[in-house]
Amino acid sequence: MRAELICVGTELLLGDILNTNAQYIARQLAKLGIDMYYQSVVGDNPDRLKETLTTALRRSELVILTGGLGPTKDDLTKETVCDLLGLELILHQPSMDAIETYYKNTCRQMTPNNVKQAYVPAGSKVFLNHHGSAPGCVVSSRKGHQHVVLLPGPPSECCPMVDEHLMPFLQAITGQTIYSTTLRVFGIGESALEPKVEDLLAGENPTAALYAKEGEVELRITAKAASEEAARAQCQQLADEVKRRLGDHVYGQDTPGLHHTAVELLIQKGLKISTAESCTGGLISQRITQVPGSSKVFDLGAATYAVWAKRSLLGIRKKFFKGGAVSEQVAARMAVGARRRGRADIGVGVTGVAGPGADENGNPEGLVYVGVAYKKTVYVQKLQLKNGNTSRDKIRHLASLHAFDM
Ligand code: ATP
Ligand code: MG
Repeated sequence: MRAELICVGTELLLGDILNTNAQYIARQLAKLGIDMYYQSVVGDNPDRLKETLTTALRRSELVILTGGLGPTKDDLTKETVCDLLGLELILHQPSMDAIETYYKNTCRQMTPNNVKQAYVPAGSKVFLNHHGSAPGCVVSSRKGHQHVVLLPGPPSECCPMVDEHLMPFLQAITGQTIYSTTLRVFGIGESALEPKVEDLLAGENPTAALYAKEGEVELRITAKAASEEAARAQCQQLADEVKRRLGDHVYGQDTPGLHHTAVELLIQKGLKISTAESCTGGLISQRITQVPGSSKVFDLGAATYAVWAKRSLLGIRKKFFKGGAVSEQVAARMAVGARRRGRADIGVGVTGVAGPGADENGNPEGLVYVGVAYKKTVYVQKLQLKNGNTSRDKIRHLASLHAFDM
């Protein structure tokens, strides 16, 4: 199937915004093996849109348009498409109801021109918009050889509509199903990881791709098959091979993050955790409490920033602070203090220099100690988290990831 994309919007032509819809849609179509031959950008101008659409209809079986479905006068994609295809615009009541509910739920006043958004080309298949107001739709030729798809412009509406409506529609007409799964990897960088799975990344079906995220790497596996079951099985086979090669570095599959995996493990093992945080200022306890069910494993988290707070709340003796508050022994005592004060099985203590710049004792920016007290042992990891121009926020984020990893 030959596909082409027309993105409508003068702001795209002016360079005010980047055409991220084009990137997203192109990637999604590629997953289905649909060839995208042309992409165009047209301003909010009916004559030029008509001209571009006429050319597209001559050469492509699938024409996707984004933008210009909104309520204002310059939103004229639907009107122009209907004009060219000789179709009427008719009211789609479920969309009208959805728009009314959307405005009610967001406590906003609906204006008369919002009604315009609920009109769709006669005979089209409507894509309800669960993330905004204007519905999308697809107009198919009588014999089903050609399809014109209309999608809203805002990426927060366009991208989910592609996933929720367009992909299943295209899967149905091409007879292909895709399935994806994501492995999450911590403690090994992208460049060290790649050689271990290089041969797997070269496959065509399933495909595997690496994405570097803040402090971790994601490996996304996608398979195409005639049924979801078959695609899922193909994905899992490759996922198992990756897990075999990377071992413990893979901390989860289709999980929201390391904090989820850590909390789920604690719940499973029936262990309680307590935290005392200095440079992360509560980030770790915030992440723990993001996970549903964390109350089963977490009673107390202390942000002990000043030395007096570490001393009086955690009961750390003065002598431990001789070299300042950033040291292996302070992290260890914080972990022990957190465990005792929180009546937990595991205590976590974090102290370090988030920056910018070194601390008053000459400890460099990015130096962080993470302590974990469990049973009779206290483990402390010394980390150097600054690499180039790593920001204060990133140092704090990385410190929290390492704590969860431990
Ligand atoms: P609305 O109801 O918001 O008017 P619409 O379907 O009419 O939606 P547009 O008016 O064309 O869409 O675009 C709305 C906003 O969405 C634009 O200001 C822009 O920020 C963003 N947008 C539109 N097209 C794209 C695109 N191709 N890539 C990225 N962002 C886009
Ligand atoms: Mg608009």
